Amino acid sequence: MTTAETETNEGPHDFIRATVRDDLDAGRVQTVVTRFPPEPNGYLHIGHAKSICLNFGIAQELGGRCHLRFDDTNPAKEEEEFIEAIKADVGWLGFDWGEHLHHASDHFEQLYRWAEHLIAAGDAYVDDQSAEEIRENRGTLTEPGRASPFRERGPEENLALFRGMRAGEFADATRVLRAKIDMASGNMNLRDPVLYRILRATHPRTGENWCIYPTYDFAHGQSDAIEGVTHSLCTLEFEDHRPLYEWLLDHLPVPSRPRQIEFARLNLTHTVLSKRRLMELVAGGHVAGWDDPRLPTLSGLRRRGFPPEAIRDFAARIGVAKADSTVDMALLEHCVRERLNQVADRRMAVLDPLKVVIENYPEGERELLIARNNPGDESAGTREVPFGRELYIERADFMEDPPRKFFRLAPGREVRLRYAYFITCQEVVKDGNGEVIELRCSYDPATRGGNAADGRKVKATLHWVSAADAIDAQVRLYDHLFARPDPGAEDDWLENLAPESLRVLEGCKLEPVLGRMAPGTTVQFERQGYFSADQDSSPAQPVFNRTMGLRDGWAKIQAKQS
Ligand code: ATP
Ligand code: MG
Repeated sequence: MTTAETETNEGPHDFIRATVRDDLDAGRVQTVVTRFPPEPNGYLHIGHAKSICLNFGIAQELGGRCHLRFDDTNPAKEEEEFIEAIKADVGWLGFDWGEHLHHASDHFEQLYRWAEHLIAAGDAYVDDQSAEEIRENRGTLTEPGRASPFRERGPEENLALFRGMRAGEFADATRVLRAKIDMASGNMNLRDPVLYRILRATHPRTGENWCIYPTYDFAHGQSDAIEGVTHSLCTLEFEDHRPLYEWLLDHLPVPSRPRQIEFARLNLTHTVLSKRRLMELVAGGHVAGWDDPRLPTLSGLRRRGFPPEAIRDFAARIGVAKADSTVDMALLEHCVRERLNQVADRRMAVLDPLKVVIENYPEGERELLIARNNPGDESAGTREVPFGRELYIERADFMEDPPRKFFRLAPGREVRLRYAYFITCQEVVKDGNGEVIELRCSYDPATRGGNAADGRKVKATLHWVSAADAIDAQVRLYDHLFARPDPGAEDDWLENLAPESLRVLEGCKLEPVLGRMAPGTTVQFERQGYFSADQDSSPAQPVFNRTMGLRDGWAKIQAKQS
């Protein structure tokens, strides 16, 4: 799918937007209201970004609003830490819920009253069966379920029991409230689904107020209705829940009638997008935390140096569809490169330093040369870079015995140092093991700025850093978490983790301005890639994360496809 197919001047087009527009045009809906409903049991990942961009994007484009609603119905797994992280991530992505920060728990009292309403109408009953018995009696896809022996309890007995559940008279998991729908339904979700369970846990917001909690199915659609959500967009696994979503709306005196529409979730190669698996990676110490730059979490991608604009662009390009598919990680990387190429300042950094001494450059002298911050953007301006007699260049930019196609530095050969001078390698200094430890070079003062007055050309331009001014840094190089595109199934995915997804380089040499970069700023190290200052940086030692190399794999993939 190309950008042109999903986007025009009027913004993106897809089946969900078409449906929403229809509802607006036909007057069924006055103002579109969507919501992003995370469960605060983990950090958000790039799959959630797809849903966020869809929900907030539609509201923005069509003059509506989007709520952020925490689906906090399971206090056993939910934490305040996750709530704060989710808010920070949605804001970082560039979206604003304004006054509309909601929680399913805000609606607990109303939900409880509606549960009593169902009971009174004979549409719900308290079941004393154990969770296991309920499961056993639910039947299978080919066999109908068996009615619970408690299914025909009268409304009054049910009401008394349900009030007892709320009052804490029964132990955890000893009773549930179930909707009374159809134990023979072809849709398992309609075989008397559980609406409430008994659970003693401290809730991040309601504390000890409740010892019964509504299930996702009972909370979600009703919260949508209470908040006036018009279009409840969710992923395909909820398609089979839609009849229940509608049954509940039909049987309750809800103030509005939201509409559920499903779309395919994002799958991405070389990584995992399941909170459970991400949790396992974090808890198992396979990564350094939820914001490890190798993870597809938004906090990981942010720390890695991905700009939010690139993630929004990615979401627009993949669009939304009804069929499951897996998107190539190279497309996300392409979006990141494209954005950073426009906005990232260029800097010089030597990751694997080799010392160069310019023998005819006066000892003790130092000068400031002018370097451009972004050759593609005049407005990015220039900066001064110190130059002196001793420099570092990249070890890989020199070969003592170069093959035919190696045009960089070699004995007797002249190359350009970017923004500086032409230098020629005069002598190679080695240590006892025969390893090259220093190059003795000469420079041509008539090439200041990087161009020869006599018009002579060189075949290579190298980046460099002045040894006297260089800042020592640690640089972290990341690779895919999984070398193979598909991480694998339940029983072996952890074994498929790439053994070297992180390589740490010490003693890298940076031009001085890089020592003062605020964490979170991403620049291009010339000829190397994009790098972002890490939060672990200190004045004594900056730390940089490699966001991405320069070579774009996406163009190649596209060429192959077409
Ligand atoms: P789990 O089902 O394990 O709790 P989840 O990823 O569905 O995890 P939620 O917090 O329920 O987590 O997700 C919030 C919203 O984000 C939901 O509407 C969900 O459909 C959507 N979402 C989650 N993962 C993806 C994905 N990979 N692609 C698109 N949308 C997603
Ligand atoms: Mg979910």
